[in-house]
Amino acid sequence: RAEARKFFVGGNWKCNGSVSQTEELVSMLNQFSLTQETEVVVCPSQVHLQGVKAGLRTDVAVGAQDCWVQGNGAFTGETSADMLTDMGVSWAIIGHSERREKGESDVEVAKKAKYALDKGLSVMACCGEPLENREAGTTNDFVFPQIKAYADAFTKEDWKKVVIAYEPIWAIGTGLTATPEQAQETHAAIRQYLGEVAGADVAAETRILYGGSASGKTAPGLSAKEDIDGFLVGGASLKPEFADIINCQT
Ligand code: PGA
Repeated sequence: RAEARKFFVGGNWKCNGSVSQTEELVSMLNQFSLTQETEVVVCPSQVHLQGVKAGLRTDVAVGAQDCWVQGNGAFTGETSADMLTDMGVSWAIIGHSERREKGESDVEVAKKAKYALDKGLSVMACCGEPLENREAGTTNDFVFPQIKAYADAFTKEDWKKVVIAYEPIWAIGTGLTATPEQAQETHAAIRQYLGEVAGADVAAETRILYGGSASGKTAPGLSAKEDIDGFLVGGASLKPEFADIINCQT
């Protein structure tokens, strides 16, 4: 893997956890013995962000699972990037398939990511195909427009604060992890396409994470692949095996 791409592991806690369970997770993370070779970010629900931020070790960053497409105002129920940065939150997951399925288009997702970047957040920009596309051999036809929308919205400077999370929808929460070969093939295709739409330097330096039932067992094989620069982890990020994923290269 290229020197410029520090290994990265994000934990997406999704809509899980009570106050006390979140405290337990923070205390588990605080006790982990973690390699400094991996950048780590955990993303609790918005209501737990402040508590997690206050209790968590400082070498693990805190991210949100989404944010609003613009700033503060009359947008009932939304959380703006302005609020997140004010709280010391440094990352946001944008364009997760579980949010896209509520009707966000590629362009809307990219616009939201751009707003978050402009406000100083770093962004995990998600993409990934449904099972029909995987089975029909049209994975790239589905994923490339998602990448193109990001590339149209981001400047070269923006890309320094972006990681791409490739998460095949059929692998999310199903226990069906993509094989290292399947994931590598798509990661390489995304990197090559990124070179065409954002430039060779952006393609070489941007980390591409794999997400979809990543586990302590599957992480070593996946991370051995040249274009897999880390993971976005759902279910396993709530368990002690999260440490094994973070440390999978040591
Ligand atoms: P999973 O979720 O690891 O539980 O499959 C990954 C994600 O949705 O980010």
